[in-house]
Amino acid sequence: MDLKQIVRDVLDFPKEGIIFRDITPVLQSPEALKESIDQMMDKLDGVDFDLIVGPESRGFIFGVPLAYNMNKGFIPVRKKGKLPYKTVEKEYDLEYGTASIEMHIDAIQPGQKVVIIDDLLATGGTSKAIIDLIEQVGGKVVKLVYLIELEFLKGRDALKDYSVESIIKY
Ligand code: 5GP
Repeated sequence: MDLKQIVRDVLDFPKEGIIFRDITPVLQSPEALKESIDQMMDKLDGVDFDLIVGPESRGFIFGVPLAYNMNKGFIPVRKKGKLPYKTVEKEYDLEYGTASIEMHIDAIQPGQKVVIIDDLLATGGTSKAIIDLIEQVGGKVVKLVYLIELEFLKGRDALKDYSVESIIKY
């Protein structure tokens, strides 16, 4: 199955000149949903890790089924102000302005091995901020797996010290 054919290109979203890669048709199709989870899981074959970390909201969609299938725990990273308990926080740059993400302070024990899952790698800014949160509490990032990678934005360069895998490339 060619998953790339199922991803929908939405022009001028969220603003003019951007082509948004819409994954909702992949989620809508039982076959494509299974294929995407299975292919992401294949990238973790033989990888020694303890936990999956995923950012809201599309990182949850792929991170939780992977964690469930592989008998691992799932740790949510959320936008500032959403998590109820004590958190670690990282502010990072967006194209215009900044954003802050948080993770619970006790989510990861020092030395635990962590995989980051998200739907899409663009510039790598979000993933770098997640790595910072994980390392703040002593976790070790062993791999990052994405359904989609926008190669022309060179996210891999921003993540050059880490092992990056993706399924669909543009
Ligand atoms: P980055 O921080 O790597 O520049 O951007 C990646 C983040 O933005 C991911 O969390 C991803 O969900 C979101 N994102 C950016 N562009 C797109 C897109 O075209 N499609 C989807 N589905 N997500 C996007």
